[in-house]
Amino acid sequence: MYRSATYDEPLLNELGDKSKGKPLDMLPPALQRKRTINIPTLDETQIVRHFFRLSQMNYGIDTGMYPLGSCTMKYNPKICNEISSWDCFSMTHPYQDESTVQGNLQMMYELEQMFCEISGMDSFTLQPAAGSQGEFTGLLLARAYHKSNKDFDRNEIILPSTSHGTNPASVTMSGYKIIEILSTKDGTVDLEALQKTLSDKTACFMLTNPNTLGIFESDILEISRMVHEAGALLYYDGANMNAIMGKARPGDMGFDIVHLNLHKTFSTPHGGGGPGSGPIGVKKNLERFLPVPRIVKHKDKYGFDYDVSQSIGKIKAHYGNFSVLLKAYIYILLMGSDGLKESSEIAVLNANYMKKKIVDSKKYDMPYKELRKHEFVVSCEHLLNKKGVRALDVAKRLLDYGLHPPTIYFPLIVKEALMIEPTESESKKTLDEYIDVLIRIADEDPKIVKNAPNNTAVKRVDEAGAIKNQILTWKSV
Ligand SMILES: *Cc1c(COP(=O)(O)O)cnc(C)c1O
Repeated sequence: MYRSATYDEPLLNELGDKSKGKPLDMLPPALQRKRTINIPTLDETQIVRHFFRLSQMNYGIDTGMYPLGSCTMKYNPKICNEISSWDCFSMTHPYQDESTVQGNLQMMYELEQMFCEISGMDSFTLQPAAGSQGEFTGLLLARAYHKSNKDFDRNEIILPSTSHGTNPASVTMSGYKIIEILSTKDGTVDLEALQKTLSDKTACFMLTNPNTLGIFESDILEISRMVHEAGALLYYDGANMNAIMGKARPGDMGFDIVHLNLHKTFSTPHGGGGPGSGPIGVKKNLERFLPVPRIVKHKDKYGFDYDVSQSIGKIKAHYGNFSVLLKAYIYILLMGSDGLKESSEIAVLNANYMKKKIVDSKKYDMPYKELRKHEFVVSCEHLLNKKGVRALDVAKRLLDYGLHPPTIYFPLIVKEALMIEPTESESKKTLDEYIDVLIRIADEDPKIVKNAPNNTAVKRVDEAGAIKNQILTWKSV
């Protein structure tokens, strides 16, 4: 029993009486403790205040803006969380008989159809547990496709220099060779370089559109023609889908394989490493390779089909991260097609509003083409040359103002990059405050900025040391 200033004595005595002598007496004497154990005694109020204070040091989307570029840290309606936690969903077991989970199967079946509609693809699998696992799955599909065409020599995947780190990782994991092509001075795919690199060795070209600079690849139809003429496939990294929902579809642009990041675009809170989902969509000619089980509908009954002879097999235990799928389904129903389109429009408007004000301030540089979609990347190179202030310093200084920094040092082709994605969730007032602080930091005494954060519980950490000298076990002092 811990000591408590708030419990009254009679209650404590009563609890004490009830437990007196009970479980310990039943143990053989050799196993009984001879001394009282030395654990801290704290009172409840102190403990509650301690943990409540710790929770207030934390930062989340409910605290403020979270403009991590590429991550789409948008507001997720609480109702999606609430419904997905209802017992009727959360207590179903993956091995239950199909006849007892018809509602769940219907939801998944319909969600696949919705993704086909949104992305312009013919078929979807909901299995992959993240965008990166979707990439891996997509590349296995590409291999199965080429193999079925007796096209055994295609072992290269082409990536643009703007690609996200998971792209080369997935290429390597799936046993392919990475061929990187540089981008044009506009920050888009260099068609000449692409043409030179495409060959009968190319299995696939992976592309994000809009790309990681937030720039729409307007040559996409030409890119698609070139890739297909070389006998290769075109892969769509759909992490930036929040920019184009209801406006443009990767299927119509000529992509053969698409992944969507449900935890980014379709309403699952993320950032803490929780469950994600990266469904894969394909065109008809790749459908027969999709992972099993496929979700099928016969008359009015839903079920699993494991009998797909050319399937690449299973990618994830059971059927994907069900609660993430459910949140996406609720979100799409809530928003409707007009709502999804509007959210993309506002995401793009917010990004361009911020970009314009930041560029006009002349405090940060803006390499590459001006017009952006849902995110933009500015550079602190000028700030570094003039005052010795780096992107990392600006990011740390933002913490002093209670603001979450943007993504930094990505994409790699922008020096001292700040990658900002406000999403559709933020008000004009919030955007204005963020812009003002960014501009103010550029004018501050570099000593203060380089020592930041100054007002946080944890001061600047040694990030290289944190990786190299890890302390992974707790030691009592
Ligand atoms: C987030 C992201 C990925 C990887 O997705 P995960 O779901 O985090 O595995 C791939 N490409 C881009 C451009 C991304 O932003």
